[in-house]
Amino acid sequence: MTATTRTFFIENLGCPKNAVEGEGMAERLRQTGYTATDDAADADVVIVNTCSFIQPAQEESIDRIFHYLNTRRTGQKVVAAGCLAERFGDALENDIPELDGILGTRQWFEIDRLLAEVERGVRPCWHGAEPVTDPMFIRQASGPTAYVKIAEGCNMTCSFCAIPSFKGLQRSKAVDDIVAEVRQLVDGGAKEVILVSQNTTAYGLDLAREPGSMRSGSPLARLLEAICAGVPDLPWLRVHYCYPGWVNEVLLQTMARLDQVVKYLDMPLQHADPEILRTMNRPRDIRHVAEVLNRARELMPDLALRTTFIVGFPGETDAHFASVLAFMDEVRFDHVGIFTYFAEDGTPAATLGGQVTDKVKRRRQREAMAHQQGISATRTARLVGHTVDVLVEGTTEGEAGIGGTGARLIGRTYRDAPEVDGFTVFDGIATRGEIVPVIISRSGPYDLFGTQANVTLPALASIADTATTNISPVIAKRRIGLKSLPMLQPR
Ligand code: SF4
Repeated sequence: MTATTRTFFIENLGCPKNAVEGEGMAERLRQTGYTATDDAADADVVIVNTCSFIQPAQEESIDRIFHYLNTRRTGQKVVAAGCLAERFGDALENDIPELDGILGTRQWFEIDRLLAEVERGVRPCWHGAEPVTDPMFIRQASGPTAYVKIAEGCNMTCSFCAIPSFKGLQRSKAVDDIVAEVRQLVDGGAKEVILVSQNTTAYGLDLAREPGSMRSGSPLARLLEAICAGVPDLPWLRVHYCYPGWVNEVLLQTMARLDQVVKYLDMPLQHADPEILRTMNRPRDIRHVAEVLNRARELMPDLALRTTFIVGFPGETDAHFASVLAFMDEVRFDHVGIFTYFAEDGTPAATLGGQVTDKVKRRRQREAMAHQQGISATRTARLVGHTVDVLVEGTTEGEAGIGGTGARLIGRTYRDAPEVDGFTVFDGIATRGEIVPVIISRSGPYDLFGTQANVTLPALASIADTATTNISPVIAKRRIGLKSLPMLQPR
């Protein structure tokens, strides 16, 4: 059998940034003559694109590697790629000799060369290379939403985070390359592009032609302008992972001015008490953060705000925790993710005194989530009676029933990011990827319910009363599944 007929299967674990690299690996392999398969059992090569953010993510990655090793058929190759391979490449190399190859995240674009070695019977273990800027590859939209990685690495030193230790310092992609990538995705059908990196607000500060500080300008703002000008037919452009203290007036005004940029600000704060923020090595001026968020709402009255907090950080007392609840009351975020602190090996925070017990962490997490639920419900209820654009993602019974089969449609408004926020469930006639106006008639703590505007729906009228209860398990299933993913961990 020649290389031109060989097949591969990739399982992507972890965050959207990993998924983008997985897509890049798939593209490289297709160009080399491999064919993708959806069934690992059929594949000649299985690539496990691993995550290494914290220990539970590492354990999940190792479980998946052993799953494929234990179920592989004769001759099938299994390769570990991604963050675990980068961070713990030596351990994988020595402790899992059954692996046919190891490829760190700094070299994901060399997957074709690595597999050529694997096919020759060599066992390449490539990790620990010098960090470089991600190369371009042909992007193919696989649905209405696509992620674009604008930079790799991080220059921050948050004391709980191991990412910079193996991702290296930030390397931003060139503006023109990012615009070209967005162009390809929109040509392929994407309606929403989400910009991601470890710290999107630091975008461009490492590029030679982007000098200056965040006080005087914002390379991210210039990138948003370039994307909107270069891809005017992109309906929704969303930005994730803004670093507190780095969202400045220029960026806010640019977001407010550009219609294509959805009015959604995702700013992981991690805590609200200056003492804890200091030991986290994060910006501790929480009053400045509050001012910035107020200003953002002044410029964009419909702005949806999302943040994440870590509870149970070493040294966190009940009083520190109360600061988080008070800040939630003050700002009234639309969406809040609450995570319990995990003492990740190799991070400064793991060695701090005052580690909080798991029981207290979980209690604080429950308390904070319950506290936010009422706030989220009030924020969500503001849309009842309004008509809002919804990006259609599928139906309550899966994608097969789209378009008047009796299933209700499910999608998201601008205020809900995929995989972390709520849904809009509605009666209507539309196809996946359309953006349609929906009259919101009811809201839950996180989700919206309504009817598509300007359509006649005789066939659907009979299910309207019961459908909201039918949808709950679908939503719950998606939420539970997603909650286990490290992508929901703080950035
Ligand atoms: S938490 Fe985010 S900003 Fe902080 S070091 Fe980690 S990746 Fe960088």
